[in-house]
Amino acid sequence: MHRLIPRREARDTALATCDDLSAAPTDPADDPPADEDPDDLTYCRDCRAIGEHNWAHLRKCLTCGHVACCDSSPRKHATAHFHASNHPVMRSAEPEETWRWCYVHELIG
Ligand SMILES: [Zn+2]
Ligand SMILES: [Zn+2]
Ligand SMILES: [Zn+2]
Repeated sequence: MHRLIPRREARDTALATCDDLSAAPTDPADDPPADEDPDDLTYCRDCRAIGEHNWAHLRKCLTCGHVACCDSSPRKHATAHFHASNHPVMRSAEPEETWRWCYVHELIG
């Protein structure tokens, strides 16, 4: 006799998502182009605008392509962009990283 045994923990982990993550591109190739300098993911737009040169990591908004610095940076421009715009999902703009984050539900996906 064969029975399907629900693998509850694995399934819950895999499905930890939200409508915002579902609506955002999963493949980086489908992301909106970066704002201002579409080919340049190496600087925070908001830091450059104010002459700040210190930031830790960069994040890219998956709604409008805005590139800004993470919460380990002094200015936390990516989070500031979320509060100003209500754009819910960003992706890491660091090389070799493709993870996404929903600010609204605080979910990684
Ligand atoms: Zn969400
Ligand atoms: Zn910044
Ligand atoms: Zn945005």
